[in-house]
Amino acid sequence: MSNYLNVPELFGSDVFNETVMEQRLPQQTYNAWKTCIQTGTPLQLPVANEIASAMKDWAIEKGATHYTHWFQPMTGITAEKHDSFIEPVEKGKVIMSFSGKALVRGEPDASSFPNGGLRATFEARGYTAWDPTAFAFVRDGSLYIPTCFFSYTGAALDKKTPLLRSIDEVSREAVRILRLFGDQQTTRVIPCVGAEQEYFLLPKNLYAQREDLRLTGRTLFGALPPKGQELDDHYFGTIRTRVSNFMKDLDEQLWRLGILSKTKHNEAAPCQHELAPIYTDANSACDANQLVMQIMKKCAAKHDLVCLLHEKPFKGVNGSGKHNNWSLATDTGKNLFTPGKTPRQNAQFLIFLAAFIKGIDEYQDFLRATVAGAGNDHRLGACEAPPAILSVFLGDELDAIVRSIIDGTNYTEPGKSVLRIGVDVLPSIPQDTTDRNRTSPLAFTGNKFEFRMVGSSQSVAGPNIALNTIMAEELGQIADELEQADHFDDALQKLVCRILTEHQRIIFNGNGYSQQWTEEAERRGLSNLPSTADALPVYLNAKNIALVSRHGIFTPEEFRARYDIYMQSYKKLVHIEGRTAVDMVMHQILPAALRYTKSLCDCVNAKAGSNASHRAESALIHLLSEKTDSLYGHCIKLQQELESIPVGLEEAVSFCKNVIVPEMDDMRADADALEQLTDKSCWPYPTYSDLLYY
Ligand code: ADP
Ligand code: MG
Repeated sequence: MSNYLNVPELFGSDVFNETVMEQRLPQQTYNAWKTCIQTGTPLQLPVANEIASAMKDWAIEKGATHYTHWFQPMTGITAEKHDSFIEPVEKGKVIMSFSGKALVRGEPDASSFPNGGLRATFEARGYTAWDPTAFAFVRDGSLYIPTCFFSYTGAALDKKTPLLRSIDEVSREAVRILRLFGDQQTTRVIPCVGAEQEYFLLPKNLYAQREDLRLTGRTLFGALPPKGQELDDHYFGTIRTRVSNFMKDLDEQLWRLGILSKTKHNEAAPCQHELAPIYTDANSACDANQLVMQIMKKCAAKHDLVCLLHEKPFKGVNGSGKHNNWSLATDTGKNLFTPGKTPRQNAQFLIFLAAFIKGIDEYQDFLRATVAGAGNDHRLGACEAPPAILSVFLGDELDAIVRSIIDGTNYTEPGKSVLRIGVDVLPSIPQDTTDRNRTSPLAFTGNKFEFRMVGSSQSVAGPNIALNTIMAEELGQIADELEQADHFDDALQKLVCRILTEHQRIIFNGNGYSQQWTEEAERRGLSNLPSTADALPVYLNAKNIALVSRHGIFTPEEFRARYDIYMQSYKKLVHIEGRTAVDMVMHQILPAALRYTKSLCDCVNAKAGSNASHRAESALIHLLSEKTDSLYGHCIKLQQELESIPVGLEEAVSFCKNVIVPEMDDMRADADALEQLTDKSCWPYPTYSDLLYY
């Protein structure tokens, strides 16, 4: 049984988790840490020293020589700087040392992370602070300490800090609602997240031959292969050996880090796969997803594969997303989106549901903006991914209940009495596990909401910050109103009915991919922000600034900084893509097409004097010349446009969207046509067929 893997023993073995802490820390220290976690108070230095020392000993036993403050800057990926534990002592010797101070606070020389104006360069230092609610772990010989990253003035420079703030905020407001329903036990409400991750795997040698993949993570050129995904023979199909070896290795590494990797399968497109973890609290889920993405990349390389996390690596082939499953649970283990069995539980469920619907309706633009990005622009609304319009799918049963509340009719027995919330029992809502409406961007799936607009490469922090904050706002408003009510049940009935009536436009159960929906959504007054350039200005919207600052999630400056950074990053990405495209056209595509044209001309010349026909050659020469001329024209134009991107950020972004991206599309059409006209042996890089059907 050499291949036997003791998973329970392996699981979490590289994590300094609660069990390890309990074993390795003095009882008093362990209790002090626990109290800090539960009450959110800072750790005292002596306690931090004890923890640091135990952590270091444990990490060294696990092979660590270094430690790193691991943080999540606004680039959406994680950053780390490694320091060794060594400290010189007398006679040229060293000891391994790690202090509480080094654990709790770090100063990475972080001046080149984007800060959106939150840090003057003379005050370039950023600070990291241990997030004691997330566990440290060992990876590749380093002790990783999950941290928050902020400026000298305390402004959040990362994605974790606002996420933690939003988690506290939604908890506080949700507990107020629970108290109104007589729940005295719950002290915290925890947002729960399960992030399903889609990705592509390609053979490393083929990937290496494509400049576009190497520099931009997606193909900028490529004609569709003769066989696409129309046969649906890849979805849930058997997994190739190289890929299954990768997956096995990946699972093992994730399990070691205490990540609950659960499901793996092939996705719709060839070479596309998915990994789903079991959901956890939002903070851990966000850290875990970052690790999943990183380890996927590293692990792929080990198996001579490359993992593509881009939202749309191949034109005409399904893109990759991330399904962000979100719910709220009490610290006593109850899911607040589970429809209950008693009238009280049902009423409470309906309040949380109403709050959610109202929140999504009021802040649809904000939630949309959290998934904006150059990559996702190619995916959202592309007929295989949710549209860029937000709506909520409830499913037939829940929809009927909501309708009956709005219409004041009884759900089960039409024409009888009105459903009295908090008094009557609701008809049961089956928890349907089948694939429900896949075209919805935000679907209720029995006891959670599945937000499907997130791009595969994006951090899930952004959308979850928005979901938590929006929910905190609505629950707070509801609590304000109900706490003042003389007759709780009456007030409840009226409130739920009013909210659902006022915000029903956001509920949509039909086909989200259809053109009719786009028109219908416009009639309903829903916001439709098809591209990043349309979506990002939402960060400047007074209503959204008021929301995030009221709840202490972002100061107006912090929020504005995000806008600047995301705008910059969009502009830079489009610029890089444009330059890569020009480079490939000038150095690879045009030369290849011209070489082939020349060989055809040689052929015609060789035939001269004979009676042989050269209709095929001549026709091809004609077509090729037409396309090479056109391609060259677009390329020169694109080159000039890339040099004339306006200086102002807003102008630059709209120029990228309205001029550069369409120009690249036109250029691509010519290049792809040339690919189809040219001898395959002359073509300078692997085609879609080579890549997707290796
Ligand atoms: P599918 O979307 O493929 O039907 P599931 O419904 O089983 O799959 O779950 C998808 C993801 O949702 C998994 O990561 C799962 O852990 C997560 N999930 C399940 N229940 C909850 C919940 N209450 N809150 C947040 N995520 C959840
Ligand atoms: Mg799903």
